[in-house]
Amino acid sequence: MTFRYCPACATPLQLLVRDEDSGPKERLRCPACDWTHWNNPTPVLAAVVECADQGGRILLARNAAWTHRMFALITGFMEAGETPTEGIAREVTEETSLAVDAVTLIGVYDFQRMNQVIIAYHVVAHGEVTLSPELAEYKLFAPEEVRCWPAGTGHAMADWLRSRGHEPVYVEWPPRAT
Ligand SMILES: [Zn+2]
Repeated sequence: MTFRYCPACATPLQLLVRDEDSGPKERLRCPACDWTHWNNPTPVLAAVVECADQGGRILLARNAAWTHRMFALITGFMEAGETPTEGIAREVTEETSLAVDAVTLIGVYDFQRMNQVIIAYHVVAHGEVTLSPELAEYKLFAPEEVRCWPAGTGHAMADWLRSRGHEPVYVEWPPRAT
């Protein structure tokens, strides 16, 4: 999705060059009021969910919108007025119904294909899983069974596995349709 009109004054945007701190730069800008579409990456929260009452297995879920059958970390966008840790605890509970016991930062990762920055957490949780409608199914994996894709949240998963003494195994990205 690209912006076509200025959100401030509704003038059609144009690709215009302006001098910025780093030098001349072409961006979508408003020729009337000089509004600039910066296109900064969006922060996305992600969780390696460890089910404390399921033998410490990891919950991965398949998004209902995905055509291929792959399982991923729980992710979501931050809401205004919340901290990242509050945000990921909220997302885990909204998407799985699990109660969150502990939230620990794994790391921060680029995901340039989606123009996102991934803020990844290890979330310890417990309870009965009920998925939100945006998730089609979930699976519980022993940590050594998890495979990582070589992008975004996959690197977060790999770093968490290494911290637990498991050498991560990567699969191709993007995955083949199955
Ligand atoms: Zn404008």
